[in-house]
Amino acid sequence: IKGDIKILLLENVNTTAISILEKQGYQVEFHKTSLPEDELIEKIKDVHAIGIRSKTKLTEKVLSHAKNLVVVGCFCIGTNQVDLEYAAKQGIAVFNSPFSNSRSVAELVIGEIISLARQLGDRSIEMHTGTWNKVSNKCWEIRGKTLGIIGYGHIGSQLSVMAESLGMNVLYYDVITIMALGNSKQVSSLDELLRNSDFVTCHVPATADTKNLISTPQFSIMKDGSYLINASRGTVIDIPALIKAMKSGKIAGAALDVFPHEPPKNGAGLFSNELNPWASELVSLRNIILTPHIGGSTEEAQSAIGVEVATALTKYVNEGISIGAVNFPEVSLRSLDLDQENYVRVLYIHHNVPGVLKTVNHILSNHNIEKQFSDSRGDIAYLMADISNVSTDSIESLHKELNDTPYKILIRLLY
Ligand code: NAD
Repeated sequence: IKGDIKILLLENVNTTAISILEKQGYQVEFHKTSLPEDELIEKIKDVHAIGIRSKTKLTEKVLSHAKNLVVVGCFCIGTNQVDLEYAAKQGIAVFNSPFSNSRSVAELVIGEIISLARQLGDRSIEMHTGTWNKVSNKCWEIRGKTLGIIGYGHIGSQLSVMAESLGMNVLYYDVITIMALGNSKQVSSLDELLRNSDFVTCHVPATADTKNLISTPQFSIMKDGSYLINASRGTVIDIPALIKAMKSGKIAGAALDVFPHEPPKNGAGLFSNELNPWASELVSLRNIILTPHIGGSTEEAQSAIGVEVATALTKYVNEGISIGAVNFPEVSLRSLDLDQENYVRVLYIHHNVPGVLKTVNHILSNHNIEKQFSDSRGDIAYLMADISNVSTDSIESLHKELNDTPYKILIRLLY
C-alpha cells in the first residue's frame, strides 16, 4: 500500500522530487542537510527508500541497519558515497542521474567558445582592475569556424546542434560510430579532428584511454592559434603541456572546468594543493577561463535531477522496474496494471547460482505466468514475473514459498 511506504529525503534534494513522491501518497520525511551517522542509522531502520546527494555516506555499517530499504536514490551524478556492492548484496537498488545536466554543460561550452574568441575573460579582468583596453586584434566571430568535438555522447551531440545553429561547422571524433546530427561530420581519427578544428572541446569519460588524451603530440598538430575547452574530466588534458602550448602561442585560449585533483569543498584552494604544482603558471596565462566544475551546476539541472531520480524511485517501488540502476541487474516488464483481479507481480532478487529458475518456476507453476524477465549482474540476479490466477488467500503461501528458497536475497509481491 503506497501510504505505508516511507521515504527519507536528505540534503535538500530538489522540491520537484518531493512533490513527485508525495503525489504517490508515500510518507515523505525531508531534511535540508545530511544527518550525523548515529541519527542516520536510527532513521534508516524502517524506511523503504532514501534520497541523498553527495554528503550522506551509505556505508556497509549504515546500510546494515536498514531493515525495509529497497532502493537508494542519489540525486546527483556520482555514487561513490554509497557502498554499491554491499547494497546490491542486500537487494537494494541504487539510482543516480548521469545525464540531467548535459544541456547545462553544452550551454557553458557555447559561452566559452564565444568568450575565448573575443578574449572576454581578459577584457573583464582589465576593466575590474581599472584598464580600458579596446582591441580587435585576434578577436574573432565564431560564424564559419570549425568546432571539433571529442566524444559525441549526451553532451557532445547536444553541443553539436547548438554550435551549428550559431553558424559553426562541426567535426566530431568518437570511438564508436554515431549518427551525425545536422550537418556535422564524424572523422575517423583524433588527429584529423585536431588538424582541422579552430576550437577543440572534450566530452569523453575519464578512462585509462582518455588520460592525457590531449598532450604535447596532440597540441603540435592543432592549428596555430586554435582554442581548447575541457568540461569533461580533469585527467583528459595534460595541463603542463597545455601551459607550454599556450606560452608558445600555438593555443590562443583555453577554458578548463575540471582538474585532475579538485578540492573537496567550496572555499578550499585549488592552487594550494601540492598535487597541482603547475597552478601558479596556469593562472598567469592570458585568455584562459578557469571554473570550479560548474558545467552542470544550474537550477534547471537540479530540478531535472529531482524529476529523473524521483521517477526512477517511484518506478522501482511501484513496479520493480530497475532500468538505470547503477549496481543492479536492469529489469523491466510492461506497466503494471494492479486493477486486474488475481494478478501479482513477483520481484525476486537472488544469488546468481544454477538452479534458481527451476525452483522459482516450480513455485510459480500453480499460476499462469503471463510474462517473465530476468537478468544478472555479477553475483546478483533479478527475476520479475507477472502471474495471474492468484487468489488473494494464496498470496501469503506464495510469498512464504519464495521466501524459503535458499537463493533469495529479497522478494516483493505487488498486487
Ligand atoms: P556520454 O557517455 O554520453 O558520452 C561520452 C562519449 O565519449 C561516448 O560517445 C563515448 O563513445 C565517447 N568516448 C569514450 N572514450 C573515448 C575516446 N577515447 N575517444 C573518443 N571518444 C570516446 O557522456 P556525457 O554525458 O556526454 O559526458 C561527457 C563527459 O562530461 C564525462 O566525462 C562526464 O563525466 C563529464 N561531465 C562533466 C560535467 C561538468 O560539470 N563539467 C557535467 C556532466 C558531465
